[in-house]
Amino acid sequence: MALETPGLHHVTAIAGDPQRNADFYVGTLGLRFVKKTVNHDDTGTYHCYFGDEEGTPGTNLTFFPWTEGGRQGEFGSGQTQATAYLIRPDSVEYWLERLESSGIDVERDERFDEILLRFSDPDGIELELIASSDAESAATPWEDGPVPVDHQLLGFHSVTLAVAEFGPTETILTDVLGYDLEAETDDRRRYRSGPGGPGSVVDLVETDAGRGRMGVGTVHHVAFVATDVEEQQRWREAYAGQGLSPSEVIDRKYFQSIYTREPGGVLFEMATTGPGFTADEDLEELGSKLVLPDRLESKRDRIESQLPPLEGPTADSSGD
Ligand code: ZN
Repeated sequence: MALETPGLHHVTAIAGDPQRNADFYVGTLGLRFVKKTVNHDDTGTYHCYFGDEEGTPGTNLTFFPWTEGGRQGEFGSGQTQATAYLIRPDSVEYWLERLESSGIDVERDERFDEILLRFSDPDGIELELIASSDAESAATPWEDGPVPVDHQLLGFHSVTLAVAEFGPTETILTDVLGYDLEAETDDRRRYRSGPGGPGSVVDLVETDAGRGRMGVGTVHHVAFVATDVEEQQRWREAYAGQGLSPSEVIDRKYFQSIYTREPGGVLFEMATTGPGFTADEDLEELGSKLVLPDRLESKRDRIESQLPPLEGPTADSSGD
């Protein structure tokens, strides 16, 4: 049977100051700070996860905040141009007002008959809120969040990936990940996976900007849902069949992951749906303290002393 991902699992980006990052995603966008840990591959850097109340796959934007001297990224091919969350059509005015009153420049636009709001986070990462009339949500509302439940973000709508040419990335989307071309305009192709719904869309745009450079203000990788580790082995074979070199399965504690650089230059991850963020914290406590993988627990004092201060979650917007 052909493999097919239901869609996006999480998106991971590089931020600058971690406090400013958390204040924006929690205080302004109303996502819950569901996990505060460190980059398992670089323990001097936080890894912060923001999502719905439970950190459901398909709702989580995660960040490596590179403080002090973290090099700025440069936009170009092989990068995620925009990450889009789904909102209800009657939330458009709410969000326009909320963002503008926080001093954020918001552009209102329309794409494939859907209204969207476009703006950047404090580090320049481009975000979109897209209103869809079939906005069926995969997200669990965060009852204690700063955004009224009716207007909260409903998980991902899509990502837009910028590539030098459609062809090579399109082949991976359709022949490996199970996406179908659904619509296109002069400069954009839209692909949808599986039965549709939140997070099932990937858009490709072509850019002649040259290869982008990863750094602060850019997305590090895009993760798609894989059911389990057995399925991941089949994804590995499928990627290898395209001449790519997927990683081994890596234990990320909250999910298992494999990574592949697709030919357009974007780093793709396949992440399992479980065990999820309650693997090491109770649901009520998610994100309330720094958690470390077991192998790093004995080094906690040193790790904590090397990290900048980060209070969180912050429930009210600082307005800057
Ligand atoms: Zn990831």
